[in-house]
Amino acid sequence: MTSRYVVFGNPIAHSMSPEIHAYFAKICNQDISYERVLVPEGQFASLASDLFAKGLCGCNITVPCKLDAYAFADTLTDYAKAAGAANTLKRLADGKILGDNTDGRGLIADLERLGCQIKGKRILVVGAGGAARGILLPILEQNPELLAIVNRNELKAFELAKEHPQIKVVLYSCLKSQYDVIINATSASLMGKLPPLTDGVIANANFVYDLMYKQDGKTAFVEKARSLGVKESHDGLGMLLGQAALSFELWTQVRPNLHQAYVEFSKRCGRNA
Ligand code: NDP
Repeated sequence: MTSRYVVFGNPIAHSMSPEIHAYFAKICNQDISYERVLVPEGQFASLASDLFAKGLCGCNITVPCKLDAYAFADTLTDYAKAAGAANTLKRLADGKILGDNTDGRGLIADLERLGCQIKGKRILVVGAGGAARGILLPILEQNPELLAIVNRNELKAFELAKEHPQIKVVLYSCLKSQYDVIINATSASLMGKLPPLTDGVIANANFVYDLMYKQDGKTAFVEKARSLGVKESHDGLGMLLGQAALSFELWTQVRPNLHQAYVEFSKRCGRNA
């Protein structure tokens, strides 16, 4: 019997999730359907209740419904709790709804695919919004030598760090060129802008990752790092696939191969994988 899944959000027409999950289902030999659901303001809970009552097995949740999904879940994973948001729900055998957040582990899976080790490295996370919050616990689990965060609104960075005492908050004006890996978790690239890091801080890194993804992979941050000679500079397409693969695994107990998916979706985006 076909298992039904959806992605909730607003806007939702642009979401690649149906394409990604259809591909996973094909390569993992699973019988699923997966559709987009547009959520009018304030209607997440009623839409989700209705669809779960009609047999929905699980869903993904994107902007702006991740907090609503977190509140909707009956039980939460540690990753959802640490992120304060859910991007995945699953109906359990007893009918209860489990909320998870696979974004951060999706990033780690992609860093592994790219051969970027976090253990023992000095990591800088730029930004302190929802995405930054979701990646901190999975990064800490990799045992970096140092995890620092920097944000324009400094109070938000201090708020995040309160939950993880190992994290160091730094100010843009005091940043030193000492990070091996820089992860851009700001939304600046969405506007083609850059967070105010000096060239020296970026150029010192040997690996740069922008959570934002773009069809051609060339976000403002990725391009800036390349222009400064950073050896490895990547956008967030692989993270998008990684978080989707973890949701798929939560639902079906089968994990799609991320390398294979990246090659396929790079092609579909017109990139050379
Ligand atoms: P939020 O709106 O929650 O946070 C935005 C963050 O960006 C804030 O820290 C904000 O700083 C900072 N910011 C925005 N513009 C600038 C700028 N010009 N200079 C410096 N800082 C800036 O967004 P999210 O955390 O939800 O998303 C962040 C990014 O992550 C987006 O690009 C999103 O597409 C991407 N993402 C990718 C995923 C993937 O699977 N690849 C998954 C989830 C997110 P301040 O607080 O000072 O305003």
